[in-house]
Amino acid sequence: MLTVNGRTYRMPKRPLVVVCVDGCEPDYVTQAISAGRTPFLASLREKGTCLTADCVVPSFTNPNNLSIVTGAPPSVHGICGNFFFDTDAGEEVMMNDAKYLRAGTILAALADAGAKVAVVTAKDKLRGLLGHRLKGICFSSERANEVTLEKNGIEKAVELVGRPVPPVYSAELSEFVFAAGVKLMERDRPAVTYLSTTDYVQHKAAPGVGAANDFMAMIDGYLARLDAMGATIVLTADHGMNAKTDAFGRPSVIYLQDCLDTRFGKGTTRVILPITDPYVVHHGALGSFATVYLSSPVTPDQAIAAIRSLPGMDAVLGREEASRLYELPPDRIGDVVVVSERLTAIGTTRERHDLSGLEVPLRSHGGTSEQRVPLIASRAAAALPAGRRWRNFDAFDLGLNHLD
Ligand SMILES: [Zn+2]
Repeated sequence: MLTVNGRTYRMPKRPLVVVCVDGCEPDYVTQAISAGRTPFLASLREKGTCLTADCVVPSFTNPNNLSIVTGAPPSVHGICGNFFFDTDAGEEVMMNDAKYLRAGTILAALADAGAKVAVVTAKDKLRGLLGHRLKGICFSSERANEVTLEKNGIEKAVELVGRPVPPVYSAELSEFVFAAGVKLMERDRPAVTYLSTTDYVQHKAAPGVGAANDFMAMIDGYLARLDAMGATIVLTADHGMNAKTDAFGRPSVIYLQDCLDTRFGKGTTRVILPITDPYVVHHGALGSFATVYLSSPVTPDQAIAAIRSLPGMDAVLGREEASRLYELPPDRIGDVVVVSERLTAIGTTRERHDLSGLEVPLRSHGGTSEQRVPLIASRAAAALPAGRRWRNFDAFDLGLNHLD
């Protein structure tokens, strides 16, 4: 038994592969199965386990990947966005650096306990966090051609996978992750593998649309191969995905900084969008979650009242309430937390968002409307506790503690 962040895990009896399919709204799986494109996932109706779980809000990539690998919410691990306002440094920074991580990972603990561990992520932005203090293999598709034994625990990853490094905006970047997972299973048979994709396809294609079903079919083929090698698979998602548009497909955006500047005057509020990252082409840095830092004389009550009066708002909460409700670190979320509803995205100022890269109607995430995600296992579960609220960060608990 192993204890990590107050939870206990059994050591794996057979290889465990935990897969985080980025942006995988449950309906992506449902539609692909209905279309007959994913025979392996379809077969799990009989022999596997299918739960619907809640991800962490903000329903963004980094907070949720870190929750999955720590088995804990952001109030424990500290990563509450891709991006945040570092009040100590007085600047807006990426939260990619492991210095922001406040908890150890299950992956590192398993490796310390002697298990062979491998991590492959699509984008490099997650690698440093996922691989923090990990004695094992950890690399990204994006930088697979730069791996070293010292930094990544592996050499010649591209040769092993046998595919060229794909462009960062592509479905192939995720396929490379699965191809690597299969090759590593063949070569090293890791006791625990964590595979994390990118939501390039989900930002563009709704569930059941051609590209979405093609993507799920691709995943299904690799999962079948991992299953055939005797691995247990647990599949979940970091968050769901929804259209953030009007009925004509035009972006439906509240430019919150513009609204607050008009109401309170420039320089009195600072709107932070934790979805912001270097890869914004497919969503224009627009999601359904924002935090706001206030300067005197604007009070939280005034700001909350002003924001609640705007259309498309779901929850507008002060720091304490938001950190309690969403299990967030209070020192990293600003004075006010804003969640917009399913069809509405939040921007800062109109001029700060370049939407020219949006070739298709905006699809994004960040709110509670993208909180429901699949939690699927390739084996049947022993009697599961009734009435339990499953979270995506129960993936390792399910895989190590509950399956036959
Ligand atoms: Zn994501």
